[in-house]
Amino acid sequence: MLDLDQYSALTFVERIDFAEDLAVFRFRAPAPVDFTPGQYATIGLVDSDADRPLLRPYSVASAPGSTDLEFFIERVDEGDLTPRLWELEPGAELWMRKKIVGRFVLDTDRHYHVMAATVTGVGPYISIARHQQRALQSGKRSTPHQFLVLHGASRSWELGTYHDELSALDRETDWLSYVPTVSRPWEDPDWNGELGRVEDVLRKHLDAASFPLDQTAAYTCGHPQMIDKAQGIFERAGLSEEAIHEEKYFVER
Ligand SMILES: Cc1cc2nc3c(=O)[nH]c(=O)nc-3n(C[C@H](O)[C@H](O)[C@H](O)COP(=O)(O)OP(=O)(O)OC[C@H]3O[C@@H](n4cnc5c(N)ncnc54)[C@H](O)[C@@H]3O)c2cc1C
Repeated sequence: MLDLDQYSALTFVERIDFAEDLAVFRFRAPAPVDFTPGQYATIGLVDSDADRPLLRPYSVASAPGSTDLEFFIERVDEGDLTPRLWELEPGAELWMRKKIVGRFVLDTDRHYHVMAATVTGVGPYISIARHQQRALQSGKRSTPHQFLVLHGASRSWELGTYHDELSALDRETDWLSYVPTVSRPWEDPDWNGELGRVEDVLRKHLDAASFPLDQTAAYTCGHPQMIDKAQGIFERAGLSEEAIHEEKYFVER
């Protein structure tokens, strides 16, 4: 049975659809939630007749310190939790483990950060970028970390509103470069950005950024295949093993 002392009740606020199986979920917590940007929350449902709660980890896309929590989620049709998340009506209650955890956070020993994501794997980078933007605006931080964010999807609409948000940061700041890339352009004739999977365009943009490698950290998040390939690319480019960080969302069967 769930020890409810270790959990907070979340209220489902809204779902914003980017595609049939991709959406942003917004929840409200009873009190501001603190965590380190990049970490994940464990959320889910507790059915009164089930012997085990149905909980899964999700990277928090929102910045810390707010009662509003945002997650970028893909529905896995054969999965247990995600089809049920899509059935939620505003006002529904979910549970979240109070401790937000994970080691996929900014490597603050380094100043330059190359971040690769497949679709929903951009969530941790959104939290990190939003947090840095607030810290710069409030004067809590004066020297920004430098980010290069590569974000891949099959089609451009799957990049969601994060495409616009990261494009705006790319245009309006001197600390974030955003490279969205689409691997099925024939299904997306209006797309005029980068073509291919993240791992196909990663080396080109890493080299073009000219980040000093001894001060650069690399991050890979989302699909396990991209992660394995991108890690090889980072290693061949000369990054050390301890400078390469990963968050695999699932294991391929
Ligand atoms: C640290 C961490 C953070 C995560 N953050 C996110 C996030 O921000 N957004 C998000 O959408 N997911 C995220 N995930 C994946 C998430 O926890 C669930 O595994 C996923 O939502 C499926 O849950 P489910 O109960 O519907 O399916 P399950 O019943 O758990 O899984 C069914 C099967 O589908 C596989 N599977 C899980 N995810 C996928 C996928 N995306 N594509 C194909 N097969 C898959 C599983 O390995 C399993 O074999 C994260 C996972 C980890 C470990």
